[in-house]
Amino acid sequence: MNFLEKRIKKDGKVLSEHVLKVDSFLNHQIDPNLMLEIGKEFAERFANDGVTKIVTIESSGIAPAVMAGLFLKVPVVFARKRKSLTLNGDLLTASVHSFTKNETNEISISKKYVNKEDRVLIIDDFLANGQAALGLVEIVQQSGAKVKGIGIVIEKSFQQGAQILTKQGLRVESIARIASLDNGEVTFINEKVE
Ligand code: 5GP
Repeated sequence: MNFLEKRIKKDGKVLSEHVLKVDSFLNHQIDPNLMLEIGKEFAERFANDGVTKIVTIESSGIAPAVMAGLFLKVPVVFARKRKSLTLNGDLLTASVHSFTKNETNEISISKKYVNKEDRVLIIDDFLANGQAALGLVEIVQQSGAKVKGIGIVIEKSFQQGAQILTKQGLRVESIARIASLDNGEVTFINEKVE
């Protein structure tokens, strides 16, 4: 098990066969040291991809994305889920159906911050059915920029997201990969093989 998988075993709460709660270090309270490790890991995995920008989605993608940006020395742009008074002018938008909230949101970023010269690393906290990541890919592609890959903190590999993205030729790098949440227990992909 890697550093993140160990932390998930220790502090993650299995809410159902489909949902993991990690409020104590990622989704509500944030552990800066863990985020630093996660950022370093993403930066190592995408070190040779010429990344010029990181794109994530508010709010839980921001902490890991900023840390990755620190190591890759590139700016971080987060897509907004609500229209903001200060977010006006030319916007790139996509519709995203939320797995946890069961609602559809329009997400947007300003055209000012991603353009066709950019090579983008997309980062998010969880990968379930891939809707959030696909929305971000759509926005980046609208800008004319290239998607170099998708960095995920926690992938639930028993859901469709990773497969859908990979089938589209996108590179997905997930730090923790969960094979199952059955019986109230987290089992990782590499644990299953052992
Ligand atoms: P997807 O769009 O891939 O279906 O779902 C990804 C989004 O849903 C993530 O941005 C995350 O906010 C949320 N999400 C999906 N599954 C879980 C989960 O098991 N636990 C938590 N805390 N969030 C999840």
